[in-house]
Amino acid sequence: MSDKVRVRYAPSPTGYIHIGNLRTALYNYLFARHSGGKFILRIEDTDQARKVEGAVGNIISTLDWAGLDYDEGPVKGGECGPYYQSERLGIYKEHTDILLNNKKAYYCFCTSERLTALREEQQRQKAAQTKYDKHCLSLSEDEIAKKLSEGIPHVIRLNVDPCAKIKFQDEIRGEVEFTGEVIDDQVLVKSDNYPTYHLANVVDDHLMKITHVIRGEEWLPSTPKHVLLYESFGWKPPVFAHLPLLLNPDRSKLSKRQGDVAVEDYKKKGYLREALVNFIALLGWTAGDDREFYYLDELITSFSLDRVNKSGAVFDILKLNWLNAEHLRKKTDSELLGMLRLELSESKYSSLEFSDEFLLNVITAMIPRVSFIKEILEKGFYFFEEPALYDEAVIKKRWKSDSSAILCKYAEKINQYSSPQKEDFETALSETAAEMNVGNGDVIHPLRLAVSGVGGGPGIFDIVYIIGKEKTINRINRISEKLKS
Ligand code: GLU
Repeated sequence: MSDKVRVRYAPSPTGYIHIGNLRTALYNYLFARHSGGKFILRIEDTDQARKVEGAVGNIISTLDWAGLDYDEGPVKGGECGPYYQSERLGIYKEHTDILLNNKKAYYCFCTSERLTALREEQQRQKAAQTKYDKHCLSLSEDEIAKKLSEGIPHVIRLNVDPCAKIKFQDEIRGEVEFTGEVIDDQVLVKSDNYPTYHLANVVDDHLMKITHVIRGEEWLPSTPKHVLLYESFGWKPPVFAHLPLLLNPDRSKLSKRQGDVAVEDYKKKGYLREALVNFIALLGWTAGDDREFYYLDELITSFSLDRVNKSGAVFDILKLNWLNAEHLRKKTDSELLGMLRLELSESKYSSLEFSDEFLLNVITAMIPRVSFIKEILEKGFYFFEEPALYDEAVIKKRWKSDSSAILCKYAEKINQYSSPQKEDFETALSETAAEMNVGNGDVIHPLRLAVSGVGGGPGIFDIVYIIGKEKTINRINRISEKLKS
């Protein structure tokens, strides 16, 4: 049991889940499911000042939406709980005492004024890096006890040996090495007595028996501090895997300024969860072939850490849109019908009633032309309402002096059928063209303009058949009236 894979997604509830967070969660989930291990959700909420209302709810509901069910964590519980760090303060206190006792950590009573002056001086001296100068390391036991009894504000710092060489194996980057010289005596416990990320993260990863830490590259500089902490406790570190940065197409770091990064925004825009998950899986990983379309269970089968790239992964929205369209087209009719009904119920057409048969016909006609369900309402608005306007460019190009007469003939023809089928609309059209001595195009183009107001879309016989004889005739009469002159 103890050598079974256990991974965690450990978000800080400082905002809504963004694409990078979801990728971390997904890769951990895929790795756990692929190896028959456990996927744990841990809320790293020790930074009280940065907590955002509703963030935990958003994390849980987004994982649920994406289909990434966790085995242990908030709400569900589990053998290594609690899964909120704010409920584990006693545990961190116990572990801080261990570090203090074996001199791996020390009290620091420096004021913020002293720290600022120190930093400014180091900057003036052009130090490669600003660092704490271990000033308080030389305090005697008595001095420490006195300051503590006087209630002088303090933090607890990690005692980093500047000569130490810290090496670890990263599953994605290979061997990574840091020297102690570049590592600051990291604060482990803040003056409010809360642990910092570093202490809480390492203690919890150990106590929760985490075997692999899979997280974004931005955490790589923290890892040597963590490795030192593992050593200080005498614990074996987990395996590390740092995922590549996410980049904009211009290779700058993906950030909020350049567009949407919150998963919520993509949900609102109507992206399918399957498509977003599929897309995110490919942000840094490939199976080694050209395959791009995957369902979650297929990703579980194919995923491995050794196929994750080191170099930054470019966020290409066109690829996401393409995947959305691909996943949409794989949906069953009844799924699409449900989605379209939901979209209609939230639209200006909500008070109108449509039969399943009508909507399924609309879906069949429109689905090859859209990437999102809501585009059916936007691009195919004429299935749900009469066109209010006619495209000027199409009028100019397609509406001739005899168009009105041609369409009236067509209206007469279809009126002869009590309930015309698609082929009846087609027959009526060739008969109209023959009788009026014009080409089929002279009927088709004005007819399309009459029924849809625009120049493109599904086949004309699909449109007229779907909207039906009455509406087609009404729309012919209407355009003839409007474009009379
Ligand atoms: N709490 C950190 C975050 O918000 C976790 C980093 C890690 O996985 O170690 O991303």
